[in-house]
Amino acid sequence: MRYNALRILREGLTGNAGWKPAWRDPAPRPEYDIVIIGGGGHGLATAYYLAREYGLRNIAVLEKGWVGSGNVGRNTTIIRSNYMLPGNEPFYELSLKLWEGLEQDFNYNAMVSQRSILNLFHSDAQRDAFVRRANAMMLAGADAELADAEQLRSELPFLDFDNARFPIRGGLFQRRGGTVRHDAVAWGYARGADRNGVDIIQNCEVTGFDIDAGKCRGVETTRGPIRARKVAVCVAGSSGRVMAKAGMRLPIESHVLQAFVTEGLKPVLPGVITFGAGHFYVSQSDKGGLVFGGDIDGYNSYAQRGNLPVVEDVAEGGMAIMPMIGRARLLRSWGGIMDMSMDGSPFIDKTHVEGLYFNGGWCYGGFKATPASGYCYAHLLATDRPHPVATELRLDRFGRGHLIDEKGVGNQPNLH
Ligand SMILES: Cc1cc2nc3c(=O)[nH]c(=O)nc-3n(C[C@H](O)[C@H](O)[C@H](O)COP(=O)(O)OP(=O)(O)OC[C@H]3O[C@@H](n4cnc5c(N)ncnc54)[C@H](O)[C@@H]3O)c2cc1C
Repeated sequence: MRYNALRILREGLTGNAGWKPAWRDPAPRPEYDIVIIGGGGHGLATAYYLAREYGLRNIAVLEKGWVGSGNVGRNTTIIRSNYMLPGNEPFYELSLKLWEGLEQDFNYNAMVSQRSILNLFHSDAQRDAFVRRANAMMLAGADAELADAEQLRSELPFLDFDNARFPIRGGLFQRRGGTVRHDAVAWGYARGADRNGVDIIQNCEVTGFDIDAGKCRGVETTRGPIRARKVAVCVAGSSGRVMAKAGMRLPIESHVLQAFVTEGLKPVLPGVITFGAGHFYVSQSDKGGLVFGGDIDGYNSYAQRGNLPVVEDVAEGGMAIMPMIGRARLLRSWGGIMDMSMDGSPFIDKTHVEGLYFNGGWCYGGFKATPASGYCYAHLLATDRPHPVATELRLDRFGRGHLIDEKGVGNQPNLH
């Protein structure tokens, strides 16, 4: 069923009795061409592009919980392509371009809102670094715009420009950045994949791999064994645990990241704003809540909830740039498990086991990557060659010394 204005009108006049479930609930079959483990944004996007771009339909997505139960439904919804390094920027710019056409593409309202992102800077040295980043972005075809403090004062008068410790000197805008309704992305890709014949199997946890003589022939699941020619792991925060079942140790640690939402307020924030002297980012949802977050909890964990010291730290960051936030009441908070890689950049690669592929290491920036991640992973699975914008996202880059360390902080995952 395609969604369109006429359909909404007809359903509205006939008691909404004609809507069908957005995707089927099939039982797992004994064998598929490709089994994707993880029904998050990346797994579902991979299935969607495999079907749509390569005409492959004998595909199952196995999800241990329900579609949208992982990070795809827990993030702070920010999309952008303001990266600097050649291994990253073209990939994230492709993602932003895919976001721009996504809703028409999969016929679903994901509320893609290019309301802009602004990274504040607080010193001359930081401004120079942002100028360099802006130039790198423009070289890769992205948009970037530098603003001085005077421009920001007129656009965002509520910011604390003269904070004694962190005076705001200006900022780097990416006007095409913004937000997308996160769970609608999972639903849209799930519906699109299902319409192309993909089986989305929820409540089906992968508990092991069938690996024989260096070749992966399928998976063990809580709903029985499933054979497959190719197995594509795509489980974000559970990457370490799942790949351990295949005998692999990854350059990834799992940490909790928390998100916070205030009560609904009148429109006040035009776009996404990030603090340059601490870790704090904020936007306003269409319902009016201020949606914000900051650093990950500083220790490894697979819990989907965080702890109070980070709540205090995030609140301090918010107060430092936007004191008015102190008067808003916090409505809810939650946590998700981040697959923090050692250089802060992701992987989309084959493994040394034939037929076993890996997608992960998204840290806390994988939501914006969802379309390109699915697109490039589908390319790798279908052709056995990396997509041209994902050639650097390899598992062996640490052995080769070719890190993609966007922040330049070294192999300390909790700092990326
Ligand atoms: C609080 C928070 C804020 C964030 N903010 C942003 C942001 O603003 N912008 C941004 O770009 N990124 C952000 N992120 C990061 C982003 O959400 C993730 O990087 C991205 O969603 C990960 O990809 P995914 O959607 O496929 O993950 P998930 O939705 O977590 O999908 C993985 C799926 O695998 C399933 N799974 C795990 N183990 C198994 C198994 N054994 N068998 C079957 N299924 C299994 C899980 O149940 C899960 O559904 C944020 C994350 C959090 C938690």
